Amino acid sequence: MVSRVIPVEDFDLVVFGGTGDLAQRKILPGLFRRYVAGQMPESARIIGAARSDYSDGDYCDLAHDAIVEHVADVDRDKLSAFLDQLHYIAIDAKGDKGWGELKDLIRSDVITAFYFSVGPSLFGDLAERLHSHGIADRDSRVVVEKPFGRDLESARALNRTLADHFDERQIYRIDHYLGKETVQNLMAVRFGNVLFEPLWNQHYVDHIQITVAEEIGVEGRGEYYDRSGAMRDMVQNHLMQLLCLIAMEPPSVFGSDAVRDEKLKVIRALQPVASHEIVRGQYDGADGMTSYREDVGDPRSHTESFIALKVHCSNWRWAGVPFYLRTGKRMKARSSEIAVTFKDLAHSIFPGDEARHRNILSIQLQPDEGMNLQVTIKEPGPGGMRLIDVPLDMTFADALGPENNDIPDAYERLIMDVIRGNQTLFMRGDEVEAAWAWTDPIIDGWEERGDVPKPYDSCSAGPEDAMMLMHRDGRRWRDIKA
Ligand code: NAD
Repeated sequence: MVSRVIPVEDFDLVVFGGTGDLAQRKILPGLFRRYVAGQMPESARIIGAARSDYSDGDYCDLAHDAIVEHVADVDRDKLSAFLDQLHYIAIDAKGDKGWGELKDLIRSDVITAFYFSVGPSLFGDLAERLHSHGIADRDSRVVVEKPFGRDLESARALNRTLADHFDERQIYRIDHYLGKETVQNLMAVRFGNVLFEPLWNQHYVDHIQITVAEEIGVEGRGEYYDRSGAMRDMVQNHLMQLLCLIAMEPPSVFGSDAVRDEKLKVIRALQPVASHEIVRGQYDGADGMTSYREDVGDPRSHTESFIALKVHCSNWRWAGVPFYLRTGKRMKARSSEIAVTFKDLAHSIFPGDEARHRNILSIQLQPDEGMNLQVTIKEPGPGGMRLIDVPLDMTFADALGPENNDIPDAYERLIMDVIRGNQTLFMRGDEVEAAWAWTDPIIDGWEERGDVPKPYDSCSAGPEDAMMLMHRDGRRWRDIKA
């Protein structure tokens, strides 16, 4: 079975911040992979726009090196043809430089998209100049990166700034977790099968765990991260979005507003989290590894690099079902997973079967994408009816064949959605604000109490208190394994 690639319409994509880290690691390699897959028309153009005084040739060299570094098995002929579609303009987001040239270069008869791969402080300047120079029109799309604010007030201000120049239907707020194949498959499994949806509620689900564990520390992002922390950097956006997809009611259609309406209802149904249901942690150094405080250069930092929390969604479907969320840096493995644990059998008919057999649907996002359903079967062989738990592996590559193993990266998929004008996998402004409205009181509470995160060893599963968060409820976190 070979997947079909449907080419998108002709477009001009301007990447503001086109020389930056994100452009080099994700955007340019992603676009190249879509080009190779045959999804980008030959006439489409990518225009890097940034502060450096590069020529088109210099920019092609930068893009060449970035793609060779970040894409496996690069076909040199294809790369050379792709680079022919690149242009560069030295531009000043806050001044006049480059805007006239950009206006001359942009075509008026194709889709135009503007990727703001720059800090949020420049969003207003870019939006305003795109309009005052007559570069953006009513059908242009604008893509904005995280962080979308650092609290409700700043998120509202950013939304207002963008709304001054663009309609909501033109704004694409990226959360790359939503671009992952498995995350979309979660919706396919839930809403495309008769099996799961009847069980997807408080009558059959015991609890849900969402883990996003990173092996790396703050690396070169210490300054940014120390002002943010795990709650702002991961929970408010990525983990919240995953929770929404798990918990939402079935939308009436798979359309952008229908899906986002349902996600918004989930966020609005989240209860405030009590302080004893949150554990904050900060990694210590071990085995020659530096500590968080060394990494950020502040020996007194109280920013959390780990957080675990128990969340309740107060509606009929989920009453009494806890969602346990955790994310952290410098953990023992890089592993992201959602696990839905179903309730115990009401009664076991098998004599001598003391073990508790539970169905668990686990959805892995990293490092490999796939799904697994733990089911109970008879242990093979003679000796009576002994039960064992085995995984029903739904890993895509195995099920669909090797030609489908080349799953598009989240960024490349999302950029193609922008060109197609499909907002389903992007956050709407009201969702982002609702998520901050839930997050703000938690962070304010820490600040008021002078809360200090608990230390945890590098390469561990986080602080001991995080284990207790589940032990108290008679449950355990799933093992973090790569
Ligand atoms: P970066 O510092 O590597 O690059 C910034 C880019 O912005 C450069 O191309 C620079 O020339 C351009 N720029 C800065 N000031 C400008 C001005 N006045 N006029 C024109 N261009 C200007 O940043 P980055 O890591 O690529 O991140 C870009 C955005 O994406 C940020 O908002 C960041 O928070 C977000 N983001 C980055 C990552 C990542 O992995 N790097 C991940 C998620 C989100």
